[in-house]
Amino acid sequence: MAMTENTYDSDVIVIGGGPGGYVCALKLAMLGRSVILIEKDRVGGTCLNRGCIPTKALLQSAELFSQIKSAGEMGVTAEGVRLDAAQVNARKQKVVDALVQGVQGLLKARKVQVVQGEAAFLSPDTVAAALADGAQKELRAPAIVIASGSRAAFPPIPGIDGKNVITSNEALEIDPLPESLAVIGGGVIGMEIGTAYSDFGVNVTALEAMPGLLPGMDGEVVREFTKYAEKKMAIHTSAMVKEIADTDGGLKKVIYEKDGQSGEIIAEKVLVAVGRAPATEGLGLELAGVKTERGRVLVDGNFETNVRGVYCIGDANAVCMLAHAASAQGISVAERIAGEESLVAMNIVPGCVYTDPEIASVGLTEEQAIEQGLEYRTAKFPFRANGRSLVLGKTEGFVKIIGGTKYNEILGAHIVGPLATELIAECALAMKLEVCVEELANTIHAHPTVSESVMEAAEGWLGGSIHYL
Ligand code: NAD
Repeated sequence: MAMTENTYDSDVIVIGGGPGGYVCALKLAMLGRSVILIEKDRVGGTCLNRGCIPTKALLQSAELFSQIKSAGEMGVTAEGVRLDAAQVNARKQKVVDALVQGVQGLLKARKVQVVQGEAAFLSPDTVAAALADGAQKELRAPAIVIASGSRAAFPPIPGIDGKNVITSNEALEIDPLPESLAVIGGGVIGMEIGTAYSDFGVNVTALEAMPGLLPGMDGEVVREFTKYAEKKMAIHTSAMVKEIADTDGGLKKVIYEKDGQSGEIIAEKVLVAVGRAPATEGLGLELAGVKTERGRVLVDGNFETNVRGVYCIGDANAVCMLAHAASAQGISVAERIAGEESLVAMNIVPGCVYTDPEIASVGLTEEQAIEQGLEYRTAKFPFRANGRSLVLGKTEGFVKIIGGTKYNEILGAHIVGPLATELIAECALAMKLEVCVEELANTIHAHPTVSESVMEAAEGWLGGSIHYL
């Protein structure tokens, strides 16, 4: 017998309560739709529980620790400074718990029905949720949003499953800290956790297979960042890790190949940070007929899968593995399911790395501008010429603007230096509004602020910054 519409349990089922899924559920509820959100763990996903938020909490403690040690220059002398790793963990957990409770409160207030369990499709409109008590609950809805996220990727390196080989999950528990850490992967996770550990006093060595750190980011920015990163950790680029073994003394040996030669790093722990893979196994996607490619759910421009009414947002579709991209996709899908036009600009996604110095970028890198054969020129404004940056004692780095020479449009903005991750919002808005470089230059920026550097970089692009030759 064919099911009828009134046998549906809700208008929409969302699978996964991370920054993609919970935001999508909240937006749907705000648009008057009934929503069931199925989450096997705590709401907030990787971002809140094991990713963005706890890493930044660690980095904040690490930065404070390192700042206090060098506070003498600012005329502040602190004696007996020591790290209380247990308290760092406790404070980090307090921040995480407050945010998770906030999300739980929002879901409750918006009347989203949260089902604690593991979901798997039985058909395109039916999922089974395996509940903690062993029971199984079948749920049906005309629209289902997959937001199952990602997990750390484990390449087939011999010894990668050994003792003291950790992922970012375990690296977030810093009590006790190892004396030394080898980081496999000079990407975002490797650099953020490497920075925190180094500031906590751990001896860090990073191994990156590609010729430079943070592959895919603007080359000039990466070169500038690397100068400072090298002060915190030993960095080996073009170094492909081949094997992880144990030493007789109970330490780890990471064997790598560089320029045809073999090298090794000895460390107490090894962090694997070589990317993340969509978490889509066990979802029963084959029973729904949803197509995947090497684990990632294939979607169209509206994040709908090949099955009508089944959507996929966030890391599970691997279009852009960033929390804010997942949230934006969640909002967009919610609007479409509710029959509204979505105006979220999916093509302008800022990217941030919370290292010291910070890195942030939006739009094209210079390498991409060249690859696309665009006519462009660049300008940079160094933070050492900005008053507020000097006051902060953070003068490393610059703002770089890439502008098209035909229409003076902003093609990309890349920042390495103080507050980069905050400053990038202005550049993203400018790009969204299709602001020209001169409009950025002609907007009065308050003095003294770090943000004046964005205006001055724009001035530089037009022919000359006031405070830089
Ligand atoms: P990544 O892709 O940023 O970097 C992985 C690095 O590992 C690459 O540079 C790669 O060349 C290198 N690598 C791969 N195999 C190697 C080997 N055998 N030996 C040496 N190097 C090797 O991945 P990640 O840092 O693990 O981050 C995972 C995802 O999480 C990314 O999509 C990232 O954008 C996201 N993330 C974002 C943030 C943020 O926005 N601040 C923070 C953390 C994670």
